[in-house]
Amino acid sequence: MAALKPQALADTATDPGNLPVAKLGGIGPALVEALARLGLHRVQDLWFHLPLRYEDRTHLVPLADLRPGMRAQVVGTVEAVEKGFRYRPQLKVAIGDGVMQTLLLRFFHFNRAQAEQFRVGVRVLCYGEARQGSGSLEMVHPQYQRLADGAEVVLDERLSPVYPTTEGLGQKRLASVATKALQLLPAEAELELIPPSLCAEHGLTSLREALLYVHRPPPDARMDQLIQGRHPAQQRLAFEELLTQHMSLKRLRAAVRERGAPVLVGRGELHKRWLKTLPFELTPAQQRVIKEVAADASQPRPMLRLVQGDVGSGKTAVACAAALSAVEAGYQVALMAPTELLAEQHLRNFRHWLAPMDIAVEWLAGKQQGKARQQAMKRVAEGAPIVIGTHALMQEGVEFARLGLVIVDEQHRFGVQQRLALRDKGLEGEMVPHQLVLTATPIPRTLAMSAYADLDISAIDELPPGRTPVQTIAVSNARRTEVIERIHAACTEGRQVYWVCTLIEESEQLRAQAAEAAHTELTHALTDCKVGLIHGRMKPKEKQAVMDAFKAGELAVLVATTVIEVGVDVPNASLMVIENSERLGLAQLHQLRGRVGRGAVASNCVLLYQPPLGQLAQERLQVMRETNDGFRIAEKDLELRGPGEVLGTRQTGQLSFRMADLARDAHLLPAVQHVGEQMLARYPERAGQLIERWIGGAARYVNA
Ligand code: ADP
Ligand code: MG
Repeated sequence: MAALKPQALADTATDPGNLPVAKLGGIGPALVEALARLGLHRVQDLWFHLPLRYEDRTHLVPLADLRPGMRAQVVGTVEAVEKGFRYRPQLKVAIGDGVMQTLLLRFFHFNRAQAEQFRVGVRVLCYGEARQGSGSLEMVHPQYQRLADGAEVVLDERLSPVYPTTEGLGQKRLASVATKALQLLPAEAELELIPPSLCAEHGLTSLREALLYVHRPPPDARMDQLIQGRHPAQQRLAFEELLTQHMSLKRLRAAVRERGAPVLVGRGELHKRWLKTLPFELTPAQQRVIKEVAADASQPRPMLRLVQGDVGSGKTAVACAAALSAVEAGYQVALMAPTELLAEQHLRNFRHWLAPMDIAVEWLAGKQQGKARQQAMKRVAEGAPIVIGTHALMQEGVEFARLGLVIVDEQHRFGVQQRLALRDKGLEGEMVPHQLVLTATPIPRTLAMSAYADLDISAIDELPPGRTPVQTIAVSNARRTEVIERIHAACTEGRQVYWVCTLIEESEQLRAQAAEAAHTELTHALTDCKVGLIHGRMKPKEKQAVMDAFKAGELAVLVATTVIEVGVDVPNASLMVIENSERLGLAQLHQLRGRVGRGAVASNCVLLYQPPLGQLAQERLQVMRETNDGFRIAEKDLELRGPGEVLGTRQTGQLSFRMADLARDAHLLPAVQHVGEQMLARYPERAGQLIERWIGGAARYVNA
């Protein structure tokens, strides 16, 4: 490690954190560029570039002790090698340690040399995550190393941090840069931005020590705590990060509320005409929320409101009511949904509802090209009243004439910044459009105050009448044949069935393959039922055709990936089978299950799982069997969600934290909120510095 020149230190003695990274010794332009891609420009950016997780190579795990989901270092001798070509090239290497045989190492990308390294009898050291394969446990693309004959395994002394990184920048290199940066950490008093009185009041420990600890845990560190993110040093940083997030959202809200917004009040004529054509009565909860929204939108300050309603509670109708008041007042409405499928459903609903009133609804989605897109954009620029689409709505070049209301569906798929981008398509001068966000994610109160601190919240807390609760059972995959028979029985009764494949794979391609395999299996098993297939790799037109056929009852069974998770509405579908249900978060299972139980028929949900189930997985499936109440499920989720179970948030990209995990760290939120209010009121400058430190570029964007 190169010692820093005293000269460099002296120059910036006041604030070494603001030094550009290039000033750390031995860092060339290529490295500076790689760091910049990670948003790491200044020394302090490196201090706060925290390890994502740790790898524990301090000991070996016997193969017999491996469990699905465990990340572990193992050693074994190659017992068999197979090169296969099922869907694509694949290298399978079985290793054993004499006690328990066969852990399968699976590689999808490999070259000849690699394949040839694995000969029967060769010893290998591997590090990776174990998962349940069809026969045995397996590791997909483990890190590995061939061991020379008779060589001892060299174990690490301490946990190795794994940093978020980018192409061409290895962990070792990044760790050494971090070490250099950490040598410049100033004394506690200069580093700490939370005022001492507030630190004392909430028992906040040293920030400096917390940073040093998480970057370089000492050999005697409590590994279990560190791996779970529950070590006091990590909790200290999580606190600060949540605090920053909270204050930044509060500031954002205050800034938006400073601006003006169009007053959206009309005579209510459109609303009345729409109610007449609606085939149902609005529920009291819908009516109340519609009023709350209308009250906001009639103010000359921008509305920032989140409408939370369980799946099937009828959020679309609330959105439509809001849209009509904007249209009546002479403004445009943009409705943005996270997926094309969902946006298309809104489009059809809105067109169906609004056609009798001669209100045109425009369509703008990503895959739409050429002339159709040009024309739609032209009409939007000329003032088309309602535009529905995906994030394509936010793209450059899309201009609105008088955008008065922005509706965002299923907000957890969009980040705060995406919402802002659409807001900025707003009106001239100081005016911005009103914002209405719809979400089915039930948000416990404490979380709402932090994750959505920039929004007011309305809840649609009842479902339309006549829904029957979904009966849920959990069934081992060993009884798959019985489940398929059950599907057969349901189809002969004229019921429709979803079969959901939920392989948690990074790639849409692998997910599609899993769905294709299930489709083949079911097509063979159910000869007299029509089985359809839908997944994310299909073209929008194909997807739509399949959905239409399913909706029209031409398909009895629909095999789907989680693309159907949000918003799909087929009332006659009354049975859902979810594969690998033990791997999904409760919130996601609840969303999926919400696709059935929409009609008057009693509905069922079968949670297929791969045995053996761990304790946590058992409890989670139990919750799903016990209740249909999204709110209770969310609270339970928060309570049960352990480390490494962050799938729910990670997959949906809700909020990306470096250290904090909203589920794990919810207990910090009351204190976070208290400190946040205090700092914003009494120490606004320090609040600003904290935001700059943690959010940096994003915050600059917000202030721009
Ligand atoms: P979500 O809140 O999940 O977005 P939707 O808006 O898609 O729910 O509504 C789900 C279904 O319930 C749709 O078929 C919709 O037409 C219907 N629906 C909405 N409101 C009512 C109501 N008040 N009475 C009966 N059915 C309703
Ligand atoms: Mg919806």
